[in-house]
Amino acid sequence: MKTIGLIGGMSWESTAEYYRIINQEVNRRLGGFHSAKILLYSVNFEAIESLMQAGKWDEIGGQMARIAATLENAGAELVILCTNTVHKVAERIDRATTIPFIHIADATGEEIQRHGLKRVGLLGTRYTMEQDFYRGRLAEKFGLHIHIPDEKARVIVNDVIFNELCKGVINERAKVQFLHIIESLVAEGAEGIILGCTEIPLLIKQEESPVPLFDTTRIHALRALHWALANAHPSAGEIAGATGGLT
Ligand code: GLU
Repeated sequence: MKTIGLIGGMSWESTAEYYRIINQEVNRRLGGFHSAKILLYSVNFEAIESLMQAGKWDEIGGQMARIAATLENAGAELVILCTNTVHKVAERIDRATTIPFIHIADATGEEIQRHGLKRVGLLGTRYTMEQDFYRGRLAEKFGLHIHIPDEKARVIVNDVIFNELCKGVINERAKVQFLHIIESLVAEGAEGIILGCTEIPLLIKQEESPVPLFDTTRIHALRALHWALANAHPSAGEIAGATGGLT
């Protein structure tokens, strides 16, 4: 098993989900006491969020690049960034290391293609919904038509993410608002919805939606894990666990 480097803390509420999903899936596959080999660099989100608000993306890119290099030097063999929004500076991270970097939009685009969908709605922060770094990539690389909510709904989604979900607040009012927004995207022709913010899956569940939801946290975490297991010579314990044998 390879060691996965996580750049997290944006927010820690969703980074905890990455940690849980990756470990649960390793154990589901390998059994016994198997858990994932993870290096986590968790930032102080207050500092990053202030830089976002000030539009200082170059500074954010520099910090992310340094963190990625730190993870590689510490032994990470793959790096992922546990937020959709900060993928605005994904290229800086990719360039800063020699190890693979799995882009969250690529993992999500591949999953949508596997489902055979062409038109999908996108919920996320205003940066993710409105700017090109995410939607453009999905359109260009995967031929997807991306629907985003109208201005008023985008403000609601963004405010709920920063004022509630990133602070661990999950409430019914926000859930109802999000489900209405999903309904209007579906009425416009969306065949599925990208939960393009790593905290949204804490609020909205598949069984509440009339169309498939693409949970970027889960998709991204599992892609990293598949890579970590596929690109390594398994240890004897891993082989025994994978085949249900004794370790
Ligand atoms: N975790 C969120 C995302 O996936 C939002 C917080 C952030 O701005 O990083 O976009």
